[in-house]
Amino acid sequence: MKSSKLIIILFLIVIGISIPLIMTFSSQETDIVEISSQNKIEGEQTVFTFQKDEGITKLSGDGALTFDKTDYLMGKQSLKLTTDGQYGYEQILKTNISPPLDFREKYLKAWIKISNPVYVDKIWIKVSHNDLVDYKTYWIHQWASTPSAKYFQRDTWSPITISLTQSKNIGNVDLSKINAIEIVVKDNGRGPVTVWLNSLTLVENNSEGILTFTFDDAPVTQYTNAVPILAKYNFSATTYINTDYIGNREGKLELYQLKEMENVYGWDVSSHSLSHLDLTRKGADLKIKNEIVESKQFLIDNGFSKGVEHFAYPFGSFDYDYTMELVKKHYKSARGIRGNIETLPPADDYRLRVLYVFNYTNPDTVLNRVDKAIENGDWLILVNHGIVDSNANHPHSKYLKSKFEKIVEGVYTSGIKVMTVSEVYDQIIEKKDMP
Ligand SMILES: [Zn+2]
Repeated sequence: MKSSKLIIILFLIVIGISIPLIMTFSSQETDIVEISSQNKIEGEQTVFTFQKDEGITKLSGDGALTFDKTDYLMGKQSLKLTTDGQYGYEQILKTNISPPLDFREKYLKAWIKISNPVYVDKIWIKVSHNDLVDYKTYWIHQWASTPSAKYFQRDTWSPITISLTQSKNIGNVDLSKINAIEIVVKDNGRGPVTVWLNSLTLVENNSEGILTFTFDDAPVTQYTNAVPILAKYNFSATTYINTDYIGNREGKLELYQLKEMENVYGWDVSSHSLSHLDLTRKGADLKIKNEIVESKQFLIDNGFSKGVEHFAYPFGSFDYDYTMELVKKHYKSARGIRGNIETLPPADDYRLRVLYVFNYTNPDTVLNRVDKAIENGDWLILVNHGIVDSNANHPHSKYLKSKFEKIVEGVYTSGIKVMTVSEVYDQIIEKKDMP
């Protein structure tokens, strides 16, 4: 009797101690788990988690460097940098990194939050083997046209990857023994910017470079011109269609043409919404939902299968909380219209970055990028609309057939592997994720 009472009392004491402990541990772990299970890539090597004890110091700038213990994803805090709002140039530095880090054949990945992305002029990461005498600059944000344009949303933690293609050498940098890293944040004078940093990692890059042709808005010239030009080399592509247009609008693709594109030529037929509505429009929640859900249903009802799990945001616009969450529920990936370069695997499957081909884009510019993609193992996603015989008079939606032929021929000569979006997911990204 006595001993069993003692056991019960001991048992209660143990429970009493462990419940708060378990609660503390699990609540701390939630933050860490969120990054590691959903977004951490195999072989990712941590450089910094931006904790107070990592020896990162402020180099210059009139703004403030603090550690934020209320807003972080891992560890105990994030590093918070605020510029002064008057072209403020904040620099933080870590030297004597030991042992030195090997940056060769890797891309960088960072977790960042930005208070107001439209006030950012630059976010750079400089790495060096000799105290920044010679250095390589990686651009996270570089003026308006950069990987971050239409990428970061206000006050939202986001992962971003930076390929070697998105970097530049000043002097002779020995990437095999990097021992100093500097991070620069500069605002554009319109107001102060706060940037939170919580993770910088190196990711092993085993890709040989992939190219994907994508097409938007369903003009019929995709069938009459793009299909035969690509088929000459046995290339397929992904077309993101606005399903309301199909069979309903002059100059747009017909159902039988899309069927032939999937069945005969191996194209992905994917969704670009019902009617090309801007999916960030406030107060149109139900409408937005229909645009996302019913366009996929149209594809399924009409017997398409290959590309139905993939989406492209109209205007490249999305709202992080609402649009992206809905798209995540119904699709495996979503493509934007900016960013230039994507990595494999991508930083975020729901904001794939692309090289947009404007009517004035020179084929050689694209082919240079193809060479870079091969050299640095990028996923180069091209965006086209109509491929026209003449009068390519609209910068965003028409491209001259003769120039497109030059691109396709050059892509073939380069030897880069050409895949559709669904093929990249089925054969590379999802295969890699399997245990
Ligand atoms: Zn579009």
